[in-house]
Amino acid sequence: MIDEQKLRELAEAATPGPWFVVGQPWNPKADFIVAGSPDPHMGQYVADTEDFDGEGQNVQENAAYIASANPSAILALLDELQSLRSDRTTKNTEGSEMNSETSKLQETKECPFCGNSWGQPQAEVDKESGRWTVGCMNPRCGASSGYCDTEDEAVNLWNTRAGEAQ
Ligand SMILES: [Zn+2]
Repeated sequence: MIDEQKLRELAEAATPGPWFVVGQPWNPKADFIVAGSPDPHMGQYVADTEDFDGEGQNVQENAAYIASANPSAILALLDELQSLRSDRTTKNTEGSEMNSETSKLQETKECPFCGNSWGQPQAEVDKESGRWTVGCMNPRCGASSGYCDTEDEAVNLWNTRAGEAQ
């Protein structure tokens, strides 16, 4: 787990990027990292990946990596991560609002035969087939829609009235 807050504090305290990999004047091998300018005489010294005996492994690759992972790059990554997270939260919220609108649309219309004297017609799932129907709650009426694969379809079917635009 990355401690993002700690990483942000460290990045904010360090010399801002971009950082450049340069060769030292006496050594053309690029293993020297400076900030502010790609000119080794102008830039601020940050690090040198060369070791004393000159036999270090990956010194140029390490220098390139350190320079590309400079504080400005890390802060940009952290910002992007945060904005992606808040986008996702917003989308999730929008998603649940849409769901509640959908369930509002799913309200069943009253029974065309007996009205709503026995209450709102209810969607029911058939336990054996797993299919849905909407039925009138009045046992003496017993009106119901056909069976559908989903509750939504059953409610739509029940709510469909002849001669009515949907
Ligand atoms: Zn009825």
